Amino acid sequence: MKSAVAPSRQIDQPVWAAAVDELVETVRELIRIRSINPPAAAAPDGELVAARRIAAMLSATGLEPEVIEPESGRGSVHVRLRGDGTGGGPLLLLSHLDVVPAPPERWSHDPFSADLVDGYIYGRGAVDMKAMVAMELGVVRLLAAQARAAGRDPARDPIPGLRRDVLFTCTADEEAGGLAGAKWVADHRPEWLRAAGALNECGGVSATIAGRRLYPIQVAEKGLAAYRISIRGTWGHGSMPREDNAAVLAAAVIERLAVPGPTRITPVMARFLDLAIAALPPDAGSMLSALAGDDPARAEAALATACDLMYARALRALLRDTMSPDVVHAGIKYNVIPGDAVVEVDCRLLPGTTEPVMRALLIERLGPELSAVCDVELLVFGAPVEAPAEGPLFDLLVATIRDHDPDGIPLPVMAPFATDAKHTATLGTPTYGFSPLRLDPDERFLERFHGVDERVSVEALRWGLPVLYDVVRRFCA
Ligand SMILES: [Zn+2]
Repeated sequence: MKSAVAPSRQIDQPVWAAAVDELVETVRELIRIRSINPPAAAAPDGELVAARRIAAMLSATGLEPEVIEPESGRGSVHVRLRGDGTGGGPLLLLSHLDVVPAPPERWSHDPFSADLVDGYIYGRGAVDMKAMVAMELGVVRLLAAQARAAGRDPARDPIPGLRRDVLFTCTADEEAGGLAGAKWVADHRPEWLRAAGALNECGGVSATIAGRRLYPIQVAEKGLAAYRISIRGTWGHGSMPREDNAAVLAAAVIERLAVPGPTRITPVMARFLDLAIAALPPDAGSMLSALAGDDPARAEAALATACDLMYARALRALLRDTMSPDVVHAGIKYNVIPGDAVVEVDCRLLPGTTEPVMRALLIERLGPELSAVCDVELLVFGAPVEAPAEGPLFDLLVATIRDHDPDGIPLPVMAPFATDAKHTATLGTPTYGFSPLRLDPDERFLERFHGVDERVSVEALRWGLPVLYDVVRRFCA
């Protein structure tokens, strides 16, 4: 019988300690590469530099990675570790190497210095998502090392004990929709993304609510439809105010769009609520019930008293199709009544809501009088996606969390935003947000995404690496 891949608990402590040290240094090194999207003038090829650096790390373990550059400076990197082929389709470790810009003014640490202070690594990308890139790399390194220790060539021979292949794919351009990254890869290198299952960003991160440590595993994500609303008013002299001033009409448009719509509880969120309400103390559970209920007054009252608005706002977004008016333009001079105005609105669709339905909701919200002076144009669309919240890989994610944190409560959840999972979905790869981190109870994780002082703790990484390793080992062995 072939040797199995060693479970994390059977790996020597010094090996783990070295793997965690290497992980911390890799996170810091990746943060220092300014892989900003859209690319900054000072670092036009940051994603390519990052992709090449990762490729060099993979080469150093004896693997033979491939880097592609579909547009100048926009790099993605991929490598395949072989199993013996008897276990079914591969497992994909998916990540992105671009980050959103980080104006440094309000940061307490330079966003690209990767300072390590009081056990935290600070920097743009610390949670979104260079920590997970480095954890996935860390697992690949451990597997390649096991192949080398068994006298095998990691680039060609099966990794000892693996029955499925493991794919590592790290793409550019996730933060702008993936056209120069995962979308291009899906179209031109589908074998980099086609798998029996994929692990991606966002889920598997602990959220402490009312003293209970929940681990939401992302199985679904909302879709995106962005619209430009062009509003027709009448030009005139500012000395004689008019009701069809396009700026005044734009204000009415914004006011109507900003109201939360009715709730609709999808099957994934129904399961999330059942499990969370059962796990939380009664008062927190009943607040959750009120937030999820269809009585807007009760829901808003619950939101107002929520112990943590960060989670309450996320929950509110996960229970309805949302509209957020985020851009408004009108006017050319203080004494000229504007005849034109533009409002752009970010709409997020629950699974089951199509683009025509979203547009109809938007127009209904404006009402007949306002919509008669508005042209609505679709700017961007991405459909919602959903992976099964059951089956071997999902069950394994749940079991592995419980194994490493017996007090933890894993449960399926939807993300309010989109990731590259929309591109793996087109290839039929069920994709789970699972970047395991056990955080301090007070860590404002959701606010650090694209926020200031983004950071990740060394302790969270130390906990996450063996969790990810065990998931890969169990699913592929
Ligand atoms: Zn991300």
